Amino acid sequence: MKKWMSLMMAAFLAVPVLSGCGSSTTPSTTEGKATTEAATPQDENTDIVVIGAGGAGLSAAVEATDAGAKVIVLEKMPMVGGNTTRATAGLNAAGTEAQKKKGIEDSQELFYQDAMKGGYNKNNPELVKVLTTQAKDSVVWLESMGADLSDVGRAAGASVSRIHRPTGGAAVGSNVVSTLKDKVKEKNVDVRLKNKAVEILKDQEGKVTGVKAENKDGKAYTINAKAVILATGGFSANQDMVISYKPELKGFATTNHPGALGEGIKLGEGVGANLVDMAEIQTHPTVVPEKGVMVTEAVRGNGAILINTDGKRFINELLTRDVVSKGILDQKDGVAYLFFDEGLRKGLKAVEEYFNMQLVTEADSVEELAGKIGVDKDAMTQSVKTYNDAVAAKQDKEFQRDDLPLQLNQGKVYAIQVTPAVHHTMGGLQINTNAEVMNKEGQVIKGLYAAGEVTGGVHGGNRLGGNAMADIVTFGRIAGQNAAKAAK
Ligand SMILES: Cc1cc2nc3c(=O)[nH]c(=O)nc-3n(C[C@H](O)[C@H](O)[C@H](O)COP(=O)(O)OP(=O)(O)OC[C@H]3O[C@@H](n4cnc5c(N)ncnc54)[C@H](O)[C@@H]3O)c2cc1C
Repeated sequence: MKKWMSLMMAAFLAVPVLSGCGSSTTPSTTEGKATTEAATPQDENTDIVVIGAGGAGLSAAVEATDAGAKVIVLEKMPMVGGNTTRATAGLNAAGTEAQKKKGIEDSQELFYQDAMKGGYNKNNPELVKVLTTQAKDSVVWLESMGADLSDVGRAAGASVSRIHRPTGGAAVGSNVVSTLKDKVKEKNVDVRLKNKAVEILKDQEGKVTGVKAENKDGKAYTINAKAVILATGGFSANQDMVISYKPELKGFATTNHPGALGEGIKLGEGVGANLVDMAEIQTHPTVVPEKGVMVTEAVRGNGAILINTDGKRFINELLTRDVVSKGILDQKDGVAYLFFDEGLRKGLKAVEEYFNMQLVTEADSVEELAGKIGVDKDAMTQSVKTYNDAVAAKQDKEFQRDDLPLQLNQGKVYAIQVTPAVHHTMGGLQINTNAEVMNKEGQVIKGLYAAGEVTGGVHGGNRLGGNAMADIVTFGRIAGQNAAKAAK
């Protein structure tokens, strides 16, 4: 067993401390309202039940409430946010005001081409069209509610800078979740923490009629509804399920929150939903062994390089996640070091979290740093010099990296050891462009909608960094709007 395998196994078994975890998404919502009134909860009626209070579910809840529907949100965890709280790098959109202010030329067509190419053209083109044309509106919508998406950076697989995040390159997820959380609170949406959906109900014609749930005391109750929206996220934290679709990922840790167990997929299957792309599971290349902390792609996007334990660069750091993951696994012990300097640190607030968590080795010179991490000093010094020369010459002859934002020679230098971990499940429930869930016969399951990582098709064979945040907000909004229409 390679060294990284045993390290990763340990991380899977431990509850991981992950990127974005420290940010506050404390519950502000009603907890098990039904249970405080009676020991045995009564059946209830509503227009729409949203299952899952991550970015997709909260976006759907805001839109549906705005359209006049009565909404109940079920969230099984003691807090809202799910994986969305952990998102760090940003949200992709083309043609935004923030891009224009920075003089970045982008187009929805280029965004579409990048998403399709990144997904190896396995993506559903119609869903990608919706994503790439409407992500810009999602940015405007989030900003209108107070989110900060004013900074724009570069992510792997993107032809131009289009990943939007808060000022100074701060983490995106906690900002978006707290914005949406404030909005549902302001609108008095009934958000029930520690309430888990266990079954979707349907009538004899196959139309969805509600949800069976368990309240915080584990007591079952039924909510009759005109429409149900599944927004339960992916299944990266369900190791058995991951291995069942991709056996080679046995032993890998995950970057995900412990609730990412794929329950929504099972709930959908219970009413006949079709599944697509289930074996398309992404590893994120830069996760700290044993700790399970993901180092955001923005670090590479802002200029960091990867060095192996021989002190050498070995890959274009901005290739897609699957390629870079494989590149790292091919190195000795399946690990590498992210290398950056004080100059990069100053331009990306998100890295401060890694310093606070004591994941960074620091030194005054490359030579000293190499000594501290046990890497050949001459080889590492030469690698950094060759890279800095390439930045000056605006040409990376070694690995053809086309985005060379800065030389790594300002002040202190830093290294973080990294290895890949299970990060994103691209497959899930098949939806159409209205976010309606499809059955195995290619027909819409009436009354059932889905959005976010529980769905499949948007990202094809590989998701680009920043596209999930765009996906969950865009399709979450569409699901909320259409479910509200259907409920009228
Ligand atoms: C560390 C990390 C960093 C990331 N960074 C980025 C990034 O910078 N940019 C980007 O685009 N993407 C990023 N991603 C991916 C992105 O965050 C996720 O794909 C996205 O947030 C998923 O949103 P969601 O609303 O579909 O699911 P989630 O946010 O996971 O929400 C689903 C919710 O459903 C709840 N739930 C599940 N089952 C039930 C049930 N049976 N009953 C009730 N509730 C249930 C869960 O508890 C959870 O709260 C990152 C992911 C991780 C893990």
